[in-house]
Amino acid sequence: MITELAAVALAAASPWARDWWVGLCERYTEPQMVIGGTFVSLVVGYALGCMPYVLLDWLRWPPAAAYKLQPSRYVSRRVALHTSAYVLFLFVCVMLPLIVVGSGALSLLGVTLDPDRLPSAGTIAVQTAYFFLVEDFGNYWLHRALHTPWLYQAVHRVHHEHDAPFALAATYAHPVEVVVLGLPTFAGPLAVGPHLLTLWVWVLLRNYEAIDIHSGYELPAAANRVAGWIAGAAHHDYHHAHYSGNFASVFTWCDRLYGTSIGFEALQARKAAAAAKQGKLA
Ligand SMILES: [Zn+2]
Ligand SMILES: [Zn+2]
Repeated sequence: MITELAAVALAAASPWARDWWVGLCERYTEPQMVIGGTFVSLVVGYALGCMPYVLLDWLRWPPAAAYKLQPSRYVSRRVALHTSAYVLFLFVCVMLPLIVVGSGALSLLGVTLDPDRLPSAGTIAVQTAYFFLVEDFGNYWLHRALHTPWLYQAVHRVHHEHDAPFALAATYAHPVEVVVLGLPTFAGPLAVGPHLLTLWVWVLLRNYEAIDIHSGYELPAAANRVAGWIAGAAHHDYHHAHYSGNFASVFTWCDRLYGTSIGFEALQARKAAAAAKQGKLA
């Protein structure tokens, strides 16, 4: 998935990408591109991003099971179907209207479809990195607010129905939470006014990041294994299992700075010490 997105980003600088974009602009109107294209990026990205993890859960393939964060906690088919239906409801009845409303603001604040201003891969990389920083900081504080007693009971409790998260549950939340947490997702693009192609890449990446941290797996290729500043699946899995701590979703900086990952870090240290002890005994 990440490789495909990188390919799209790299292709953005090529003449092929320009021809493809011109073709899209000739075939579709601006509202169809902004609303329809963004919505399709959201839904297709969610389906493609979830698919590998759904297969891993379904097949219970032993080599992959070794990387499952809560080894015995597989989602049942009934819960997976219910979650998929509810997420589909959120896409159609909450996120699509949000995109329709937000599209006016995006156009006003400079989101462009101009083929002559198609972004280079470097521009896409720099802008999406900035969007991730804005997303992470905003999401951290809004998520902490959702853990205050009243907001937790009234809103955030729905997302925490799953104490062993799985990919399909990444967006499983109260509609109010979907709207509130959509603010930091679109705050970066609203501030920058990027090209629509960059916005689509951002929607795909943000979607995939949410799916990955809820997947229940920390696979060998997980980025956080080599970059400790990336939160990753184990970080957010701890939040669901303990209902507190590790409020950030993308990076570990906020939780470290504000002291909300102390329990998680102590647990990781105990696990590392136990593994080292086992290694010495073997
Ligand atoms: Zn939470
Ligand atoms: Zn979550």
